[in-house]
This record gives sequence, structure tokens and C-alpha cells, in this order.
Amino acid sequence: MVSVELITVGDELLIGQVVDTNSAWLGQELGRIGAQVDRIVSVHDTAADIEAAVRGALERADVVIMTGGLGPTKDDITKRTLAECFGMRLVRDEAVYEHVRQMTAERGMPFNTLNQDQALVPEGCRVLPNRVGTAPGMMFVQRIGERQRMLFSLPGVPFEMKTLVTEQVIPLLREYFALRSVVHRTMMTFGMAESALAMTIAPWEEALPAWLHLAYLPNPRGIRLRLSAYDVEQSVAEQEITRQFEKLREYIAPYMLGYEPSSVESAVADLLRERGKTLAVAESCTGGAVSARITAMAGASEYYLGGVTSYSNAAKVNLLGVAAEDIERWGAVSETVARQMAAGAVTRFGADYGVSTTGVAGPGGGTPEKPVGTVWMAVAWRTVEGAVETEARCMRFSELREQNIERAATHALNMLRLRLLGVSEAFQQTGML
Ligand code: ATP
Ligand code: MG
Repeated sequence: MVSVELITVGDELLIGQVVDTNSAWLGQELGRIGAQVDRIVSVHDTAADIEAAVRGALERADVVIMTGGLGPTKDDITKRTLAECFGMRLVRDEAVYEHVRQMTAERGMPFNTLNQDQALVPEGCRVLPNRVGTAPGMMFVQRIGERQRMLFSLPGVPFEMKTLVTEQVIPLLREYFALRSVVHRTMMTFGMAESALAMTIAPWEEALPAWLHLAYLPNPRGIRLRLSAYDVEQSVAEQEITRQFEKLREYIAPYMLGYEPSSVESAVADLLRERGKTLAVAESCTGGAVSARITAMAGASEYYLGGVTSYSNAAKVNLLGVAAEDIERWGAVSETVARQMAAGAVTRFGADYGVSTTGVAGPGGGTPEKPVGTVWMAVAWRTVEGAVETEARCMRFSELREQNIERAATHALNMLRLRLLGVSEAFQQTGML
């Protein structure tokens, strides 16, 4: 496989002011064409650091891609450093000069000496014209014995970098190297802890063909299972990956949300839409997070009627019809209040389904019986006879408010999803949810 190393340049990356999204994007795009990123390094805008990173990368990799440090200001020194590294003079490129002159004129900016310097390029590099910005990209080719190494230097601004990579760098890589395709496909799962998931699917994993590689990628919204095939013909790899994920259904069907970028909420949306059913939401501790997750998806108006953020007891009583004496007796964070909130959402909005949350998000407000992180959630639905039924469950999350809100919202949506799928409560209990 063609080995690639990435070098991102800029103090802003090292002090955490800017997140290095360039490398993440490059990793994905290069993977798609069968080039493998083996190392990512971020360095300061200093000649010594840039030079050391470049020399090290060129020793190891077939291709080095750098981003950043090409701007007109003094702190951007990548170009000068590369010229010195490769022993090249800086010379004016007339096409870039004209492009920068036009671009500054169009934007009403002065065409001063700093901008004019952008047209200076190391003599002997290949200039990659930047139609969406002023700093051009550059390509350097080095032959060391049999091996050919390429170095690309690209602007740091993400959309300029992306345009140059898509339109010029990738075609050049295809021209210089015989690239074999890489196929990745990712299945989103939710509801099973990583270790339980690994144990449940062990027989499936063991039976995978040796050329398919499985990776577990957990985050608070679920565990992603990625299957990757390297150096295998694309259509064969795609077919086999699809077949294997179909087989996986025999083990964990109710936990599978669909291929990336599916999510618990997109699975809920699909189910509601398929069945022509509507949803209303009643939230306390999640403060609107459930509704926000639903309405972030285009087309939510087809099934989402609305939501109530009933934070106070009075709001739970007045807006959702929760019985005041039940709040008094059991507390706002309780099974009966969660059920009544969900049922209230169904009746007040005239919806087919309702979902509710009520809990102690923290950091304060915990008690020995209901410590921080305790959340009751419920789902309500209308039966064919028109009655409203509910189911509820309690979960204990962490001390961290932000996490508690995110996890409570995700689990509430998942409870609704399982109800829509008709997965029994018994399964939810034994299924290590
Ligand atoms: P320009 O010619 O447009 O000035 P440049 O090559 O000088 O581009 P930088 O000055 O290093 O680029 O970065 C410009 C901006 O691009 C930074 O302020 C930052 O917001 C963004 N940026 C730089 N590197 C990255 C990166 N690795 N990931 C995400 N964003 C980045
Ligand atoms: Mg910079």
C-alpha cells in the first residue's frame, strides 16, 4: 500500500485553539483511494520543527502531505522552509501572480508586497493553482534510488485544502502510483456495552474471512462496527461486507441502527415515517435535547408534532396533566411521573407515541435514593382501542451533567425505537441494555 504521512503546521493546532480536522478528512479521502495514512504530526510554525518533520516523513513514507503555513504573513513559513530543505530558490510564478492580483482586486483588497510574495514559489516545484484562495499548493518529487517520494504542501484553510486535494492531489496520486482500493463500511449499534457486544458477536467475528478487518469504535451515541477490506477488488469487497453485516443480524438485530451515518434518532424517524405515526416529547432533565435531536433531521415535521420542556413541577402538572399528588408522594424523578409525562405528551398533542425523561442531571440535587445521574424515562403509545399505554425504565448514569443529558436523550430515543420495533421488555432487560 502507498504509505502517506501528514504534517499539519500551525501553533494554533498545538495550543488546542483549532482542531486538526484537515488530517481527519485527509485520512478518510486517502483511505478511499487505497492510500494509507501511517502517521500524523502537528508542528509549530518554526523552520527547525517543520524541517525535522519533513525530513523524518520523507525517510519513511511514499507521500507526505502538509497543510498550513502558506499565508502571506510572517508567521507562515512553510514555503520558505521547504525551499531551503530542497535547496531551491524562490522565484515568481507569473500565473499565480496574476491570479492573486485578480483575486485581491475582486475582493477590494490591496495588492501589497505581502500578497505579491504569495506568487513566489520554490524553483522546480510543481505549482498547484488554487482557484478558491490566494496561496497555491506545491508538489515536490524526489527520487531516491528506485523509490519515488512526493511531497505536497497545501494551504491550511480547510475548504481550500479540500478543493486542491479533490481536484489535483488525488488525480496526481493516481497518476504516479498504482493504487488498490480500500473499502470501509460501518454499522452503527446502540444499547449494548462494548464487552457484551464483543462476546455476543464473537462467533460471527471468528467466521469472518481473513481479509476483512473488524474495528470497534465506541462513543456515547453507540458503538460503530467497521469492516475494512484492503487490496481486494472493490465490488467483491462491498458484496462480502454487506453479506457479513446481514449475517450479523442473527446475533444483534435489535441493536443495529443501520449503516453510518445512521443514529438512534434516524432509526426512530424511519420507523415513524414508514408507519405513518406521530411523536410528541415531554422532557425534564434533558431540557429539549430529545426534541433537538429529532428536529435536527430534515423532514421531521412529517412525524414530530412538538415537545414540552416541563422543568418545574407546575409545568408537569399544568402542561402535561401529571397528578400533583404523585409528584408530592413519589418525587418528580419517579416512575409514575415519567409515565404520566409520556402519556400527557400523547394526549395533549394527539400523538401516536410519546417519550419522556425526568432525572437528576447534576452536579447538585442528588440524594441517597436518587443520586446524580438517576433518570426515569418512559414511552407512551395509543393502542388500537384508543387507550394510552406506557412503559418506563430507570437508568443510572454518571456525575457529569453534559454526559447525563446526552445519554438520557439517547436512551429515551432508543426505548422508543425498541417499542416501535416491538422488541419485548424482557429482551431489553436480558439484552444488557
Ligand atoms: P492562507 O493562505 O489562507 O493564509 P495558510 O496555509 O497560511 O492559508 P494557516 O494560516 O496555517 O493556513 O491556517 C489558516 C486557517 O486554517 C487557520 O486559522 C485555521 O483556522 C485553519 N486551519 C489550519 N490548519 C488546520 C487544520 N489542520 N485543521 C483545521 N483547520 C486548520
Ligand atoms: Mg498558520
